[in-house]
Amino acid sequence: MTASPEVTMQFLYALRSHGVTDTSVLGAMEKIDRGPFVKGYFTDRAYEDMPLPIACGQTISQPSVVGLMTQALQVTPRDKVLEVGTGSGYQAAVLSQLARRVYTVDRHARLVREARALFEAMDLTNITAFTADGSHGLPDQAPFDRILVTAAAEDPPGPLLAQLKIGGIMVVPVGQSDAVQHLIRVKRHETGYDYDELRPVRFVPLVEGLGREE
Ligand code: SAH
Repeated sequence: MTASPEVTMQFLYALRSHGVTDTSVLGAMEKIDRGPFVKGYFTDRAYEDMPLPIACGQTISQPSVVGLMTQALQVTPRDKVLEVGTGSGYQAAVLSQLARRVYTVDRHARLVREARALFEAMDLTNITAFTADGSHGLPDQAPFDRILVTAAAEDPPGPLLAQLKIGGIMVVPVGQSDAVQHLIRVKRHETGYDYDELRPVRFVPLVEGLGREE
């Protein structure tokens, strides 16, 4: 991070006090500077533990939620990860520090373009970003060791369940967009899926189809 040592300490303290205790996740979040992912009016709030508006009417998630979701995903250095909902690109950048390879998709081409430019500038060469409707997953790159959905679905999307490897883990916020949603962790085993409910969250909805270009 390029923030001052005091601001960095506060940023990490907020993560820990919300239950982000995994040292590799904390290390990744210390390394990846959230500043460049927050553009315009809110740049000076980039190191506060709050969600902020980004382009296309979307939001960059609260850092502690990014930390908790990343921790719940139990990423290992051998993993191929799919993220649905690139948004600013911040979550993908954090994942890139922990995984072998990260694929991230967003339905808004503009968000994907801007995130790609940041990945390049930060030399994060193990991330590939696509404009696509992520509710269908990414069949060409499937199966995945880990899948992280950063928009709320009414149910874990079937194509994403199908694209999870046996032994794989998916973390997805589930619920109506205007109601309480719960973060669900799905583990795929030989004969089916185990679900566990982690915590209440609030995300923008997973929307079908591509976004209109602005
Ligand atoms: N992970 C992001 C925040 C995501 S906000 C970050 O770190 O900044 C949720 C994102 O999901 C939005 O950018 C929205 O465009 C995207 N989204 C919603 N429905 C989608 C779909 N069906 N396919 C791909 N992306 C989708």
